[in-house]
Amino acid sequence: MSDQGPANGAKHDPAHDATHDQAHDEPHGGALASRLNWLRAAVLGANDGIVSTAGLVVGVAGATDDRSTLLTAGLAGLLAGSMSMAAGEYVSVSTQRDSEKAALALERRELREQPEAELEELTELLEERGLSRKVAREAAQQLTERDALRAHARVELGIDPDELTNPWHAAWASFFAFTVGALLPLLAIVLSPAAWRLPVTVVSVLVALVGTGWQSARLGAARARPAVVRNVTGGALAMAVTYGAGALLGAAGV
Ligand SMILES: [Zn+2]
Repeated sequence: MSDQGPANGAKHDPAHDATHDQAHDEPHGGALASRLNWLRAAVLGANDGIVSTAGLVVGVAGATDDRSTLLTAGLAGLLAGSMSMAAGEYVSVSTQRDSEKAALALERRELREQPEAELEELTELLEERGLSRKVAREAAQQLTERDALRAHARVELGIDPDELTNPWHAAWASFFAFTVGALLPLLAIVLSPAAWRLPVTVVSVLVALVGTGWQSARLGAARARPAVVRNVTGGALAMAVTYGAGALLGAAGV
């Protein structure tokens, strides 16, 4: 996971920031950074739901006026998309969790078999973070007495053994985020009167994409305007292309 949230750096003193730039997996402030990552993933998942479902229903609307066809296509797209997102997230988080667990198991074994070398390692890592040799040694000893595995996990691996991401949570979160996004174009196209269907859908989708583009830029501490422009352009392109394809097929009587 990236650590580019606005949280990082905000509360740090400058001396700390110098090391922070290299220590990408720095644990300080990790909880806030991970919450921001979750929020960002949710916004991006919703964005995916909006764009892919909008492209789908607008494309079908290019070929047919039939409301139940639109509903069927949109609903199928919503379910297929949200389940595929959930499955993908489940697989990737499970893999990450497996490798984190393997790293923790290795660390546990090293701590058992060579505690002296591990104490030295922790000392050096703390020194790299700006402590003097003496203070680093003392800190390493105290951390080792309290909870050696946790200390090594956080300082050395950059993970918190008590807060490994649950793959089911990640899967449900993306399922839910995608579904919320997908509902917007689906409801817009199914509930609007036939003559207003396309304009209502296109406008509400573009407005929503301004929102998700702005939110994701903000959560990633990036500039908002270019993110919004890219996001809206991408969505508009998707709808234009699928509408064109649908209209061609419809005109050809396929
Ligand atoms: Zn270690």
